[in-house]
Amino acid sequence: MELTLHNKVAMVTGGGSGIGRAIALAFAEAGAAVAVVGRTPAKLSAVAAEIRRSGGRSLAVPADVSRGDDVAAAVDSTVAAFGGLDILVNNAGFSPSGRVTDISEAEWDECLAVNLRSVFLGARAAIPHMQQRGAGVILSVAGTFGLRAAANKAAYSTAKAGVINLTRAIALDYGPERIRCNVICPGYVDTPLTAGVAPADRDAFLAATQPLPGVIQANDVAALAVYLASEAANMITGQVFVIDGGQQAGLYRA
Ligand code: NAP
Repeated sequence: MELTLHNKVAMVTGGGSGIGRAIALAFAEAGAAVAVVGRTPAKLSAVAAEIRRSGGRSLAVPADVSRGDDVAAAVDSTVAAFGGLDILVNNAGFSPSGRVTDISEAEWDECLAVNLRSVFLGARAAIPHMQQRGAGVILSVAGTFGLRAAANKAAYSTAKAGVINLTRAIALDYGPERIRCNVICPGYVDTPLTAGVAPADRDAFLAATQPLPGVIQANDVAALAVYLASEAANMITGQVFVIDGGQQAGLYRA
């Protein structure tokens, strides 16, 4: 079956870089009109221009996903530009470090707001438009740290675990209206988020934890996102999709 998003309208948060950029480009290639959302206008415009140069439809929409008014305005802009909304990808996030005794309340709140509250805000703004269409898809990018916590990542691990169960709750509540909600949990992906990791440290970590050779690329995650957003996945909802080169299969070289 051909995977197509022809005639669909998608909004991708964190679409200016890394995994979100790859998803935005892949969705456009599959035929969707794509609103690219994030805080840095130059990054968003670059991705939107890349899509338009390839013949696609795209819009750069600056917004902070932790703010309800920004998220609502971004959804409104998308609907105004493209006539509706079929697919929301909650991908924006950041990965602060720290144990509970290391971080302030403000740092905890910011991590939860950007990584978890954003999913609530996005779903809340998008679902009424999906109800109007009679169907919809919500995809969120959590991470394997949401399945098994990581040391020195207390707030981030907590937020990503929350995204997983919020996904299930949305799937249960809106499944009868043909709104599907799934979550992708990547392992270690080469993106700006991981660019600060020294190559030697990365390679040692992957050698000790990931049975498949190589490093996951943003395009690998985007391919899964296209499938989950497409009609080919029309009976899949409330599920967690791990793309981690096999890390979660079990202990490896422990
Ligand atoms: P990235 O390139 O840093 O992408 C994160 C994007 O989110 C950026 O484009 C950033 O743009 C945007 N963003 C951050 N805070 C925002 C806010 N408050 N409002 C709006 N946009 C915001 O890193 P990435 O690896 O592609 O990350 C994408 C998602 O994958 C994240 O949720 C991350 O937690 C998850 N993930 C990544 C990995 C990995 O190994 N790379 C593994 C598991 C999960 P601006 O700063 O311009 O707003």
